[in-house]
Amino acid sequence: MSLNLSLLETFRKDLYHCSDCNYCVDAVWAERGMHHVCATITHHSPAISYSGRGFVLAARALLEGQTLNPETVAERVFSCTGCGNCEASCPIGLRPAQVGQALRETLANEDILPPAIAALRGRMREQGNAYGAPREHRARWAEGLSFSAAFDASIHYAPGCAAAHARPADARATVQLLQAAGERVSFEPASDACCGAPLREAGLLADAGFAERALAARGALRVLTSGLECLTSWQRAGVSVHSFAEWLCAALAEGRLHLQARVTRPAQVRVFDSCASRRPGGAPDLLRQALSALGQDVVNGPQDARHAVCCGAAGSLAELHPLSAARMAAARIDADSRWPVVGSDPRCLGHLANGGEAERYFGLAEFVLAHFDVAGRT
Ligand code: SF4
Ligand code: SF4
Repeated sequence: MSLNLSLLETFRKDLYHCSDCNYCVDAVWAERGMHHVCATITHHSPAISYSGRGFVLAARALLEGQTLNPETVAERVFSCTGCGNCEASCPIGLRPAQVGQALRETLANEDILPPAIAALRGRMREQGNAYGAPREHRARWAEGLSFSAAFDASIHYAPGCAAAHARPADARATVQLLQAAGERVSFEPASDACCGAPLREAGLLADAGFAERALAARGALRVLTSGLECLTSWQRAGVSVHSFAEWLCAALAEGRLHLQARVTRPAQVRVFDSCASRRPGGAPDLLRQALSALGQDVVNGPQDARHAVCCGAAGSLAELHPLSAARMAAARIDADSRWPVVGSDPRCLGHLANGGEAERYFGLAEFVLAHFDVAGRT
């Protein structure tokens, strides 16, 4: 089968400037916070074809007319988490993660998909979420909460798949804090479904576009979502969207919410740095700013965020290789083992909690409700 290589053409400069230095594969530079780069190489397979450099080599070979087995290339590029650490590590600013994404899109356009990715697409079409949970279970997190009507709402809450299905306590805490600050929150179970982010990460652009158009059709003017990967889907749909950390920073600065730390508050926490800010097309993670605004002492500095190795939750790796994704999570759990951990990405937190010690992991809203007295505009 001949592939349409026009997307790869747009990366020609990256492909031919690569010096094969291998930084994007296995660089270690403690002073710069680099402790290996590619989670797939470290925890799944050391074969170069699974790395950002391998994607550059494969794309160049295809453009030069070499024959590569498309199914083999697909197995490699869909085993990428899309974390972007290879790009953050490249000393000359090349874009190996985006080359990997372009390869996924090129293959997906011809329907050359590993069976696990085809199954993901099927689950998304049938149930509207990446977890394969029944569609009717999606709104269970909201049972017992009351919401404003959409026409009267000041903000619409869209939890995202991970908060709705894997971190329901964080979704509830988010709504409670929004309402404590005087927000009139709407939530519409009938139209709440996946925003398409997992589909886009997997290169399934037709399905992702369908989901994004559905967001635009909801007509919400101002949205808050818990899913960091969901932010860009809402932005693509032309909707004003906020993360909870962003909203919390603004609510505290504007005096809409007053939080008083209880004596039970941990003296120190560890921030779980996700790859959300670093992913190609990703969104900024304002968790550290929010914790700073709360006066919360944090043990790990912001330099950890730049090259944090993926926990295995993101992209399509976990679909193909769940055991490798579990090893990635275990590596992050070991590194974080002494403190309560606060994260702002429910997808990561749900994945880590599956590895044990779930009680040590808090979403930001959960952490606030657990350790602060709340007063605000109601
Ligand atoms: S995006 Fe992340 S998982 Fe994918 S090749 Fe780059 S470093 Fe490895
Ligand atoms: S993409 Fe960048 S870091 Fe990776 S091998 Fe090429 S030059 Fe080195």
